[in-house]
Amino acid sequence: MARDPDLAPDLEGLDGDPGPFAVPDHIGRLEPYQAGKPIEELERELGVTGVLKMASNESPLGPSSVALEAARRAMAEAHLYPDPSCFALRRGLAHRLGVDPAEIVIGGGSNELIHLLVRAFCLPGRDVVVTHRHAFISYVIAARTHGVEVIEAPVRADLRCDVDALCDAFGPRTRLVFVATPNNPTGAHLARGELEQILERAPARALVVVDEAYHEYAVALDADGARGFQSSQPYRSMRPALVTLRTFSKIYGLAGLRVGYAICDRRAANGLDRTRRPFNVNSVAQAAALAALEDEDHLARACEAARSGLAALASGFTALGLTVHPTLGNFLLVGLGRDASPIYQGLLRHGVITRPMGAWGLPQHLRVSLAAPPGLARAVEAMRAVLRG
Ligand SMILES: *Cc1c(COP(=O)(O)O)cnc(C)c1O
Repeated sequence: MARDPDLAPDLEGLDGDPGPFAVPDHIGRLEPYQAGKPIEELERELGVTGVLKMASNESPLGPSSVALEAARRAMAEAHLYPDPSCFALRRGLAHRLGVDPAEIVIGGGSNELIHLLVRAFCLPGRDVVVTHRHAFISYVIAARTHGVEVIEAPVRADLRCDVDALCDAFGPRTRLVFVATPNNPTGAHLARGELEQILERAPARALVVVDEAYHEYAVALDADGARGFQSSQPYRSMRPALVTLRTFSKIYGLAGLRVGYAICDRRAANGLDRTRRPFNVNSVAQAAALAALEDEDHLARACEAARSGLAALASGFTALGLTVHPTLGNFLLVGLGRDASPIYQGLLRHGVITRPMGAWGLPQHLRVSLAAPPGLARAVEAMRAVLRG
């Protein structure tokens, strides 16, 4: 059949017709994100109940009752679209943080903001994203999803960020630098001098993104300052090209509602706002997050639970001969010294879900999140039984 070249471009000149289900090469190279195994899924598979999930750094305390009440109230208005500007939540956060509401952007979890940062600020083929090995996995996923080149600097033998190596990876094409403090999955934080070095050495055209998803835990776990934890916030005046990410998913116990936020210069906020979907944060999530800010007792309980829970978990695993990495988050990275898959599977058979770290380049490690005290003991016992074989 004759083809009108004006109506149908000549695909035969390309590498054959790609067909309706073909994706571009950079999408074809992606692996779908492997989330922690849901409780219901394992309960279905094992035919049991009472499965314990320590896989996704969720809060064992659950949401604050104040947040729950606000969420219930917001549900009654579910027929209305949410406030697209998240005005009340931004105002509440701005008040607490001592910044202008225009310097806050709310996302559907900070994961959305990580993707928006790449989408808004990086041009594929021109710009480069720099992070380090075993950093939070979303940075690499976001860059690759957008076809943007990413450099992962090597880390130190103890898996901590090697700040010299990271800074050596900076170049004229560096557009975004991603670091997390404390980092997930290692639990390692950047000490003050390390953070300062990154902020000083990052090229002028780069936005430095400091992911502080565990900020509240880190402040509490390093209350005496012995570990030198330092938030990026005081450096905003020194380096306006700085984006701090925080979330309601961790200590606030609202992971299921998907709310995170960026604190940044209003010019950066403007770039994010242009690329944000309309209504990206639902009304129940906005209301619950705002109310959660008020419940300081809940936060204090969560910090105390983390302090005692991590200590119990770490001593239990250490006594079993495992390597426990120091953490300022609500989870532990546990080195097994052998392939982690059989141990992960064994723990599943005991009804304990942990997180295998193969996708993060750590095939001999499991990440184990905090649980309520009975769960902590159960996890250590399950590990003991699995290791015994
Ligand atoms: C959990 C986590 C996030 C937060 O994800 P949300 O999308 O806000 O649920 C961001 N960064 C790090 C390092 C995390 O561990």
